[in-house]
Amino acid sequence: MNLEETIKVYKDFLKSKGLLYTQPRELILKEATSAVGHFSADELTSQMHKNGINISRATVYRTLASMIEAGILNSVDFGHGHIHYEVKKAKKYHEHITCKKCGAICEIQIENLAKVINAAAAKAKFKHVEYAIRVSGVCKNC
Ligand SMILES: [Zn+2]
Ligand SMILES: [Zn+2]
Ligand SMILES: [Zn+2]
Repeated sequence: MNLEETIKVYKDFLKSKGLLYTQPRELILKEATSAVGHFSADELTSQMHKNGINISRATVYRTLASMIEAGILNSVDFGHGHIHYEVKKAKKYHEHITCKKCGAICEIQIENLAKVINAAAAKAKFKHVEYAIRVSGVCKNC
């Protein structure tokens, strides 16, 4: 999705919830979709403050949550006690591995993971299956 398409998706989502596409929401959307990698609400807030945008952490937090609901962002749990966000890209599905020493985050591909989980869940007669796995280790710099 390019920025224009992303804005449209978000506007449609807000409309369906009876919400307005406000300027703070637009600023957060632009900042979040241009962010590289995985960011927390705090990191995004301080980045925006650095760029001279006066916005509260609570607003950023709420807006990011709505962008997950709208399908624009993914949430990822690295076990930091807060969630990280990443832009849902057209790129391949991936999992994350975090360094236990320095907190570095890498993306890894686990062959057939979704297939294996879905097959196991189907055996137990479950549908609408979601999963989250946490992988950690020590990175090459540590
Ligand atoms: Zn973190
Ligand atoms: Zn490390
Ligand atoms: Zn990722």
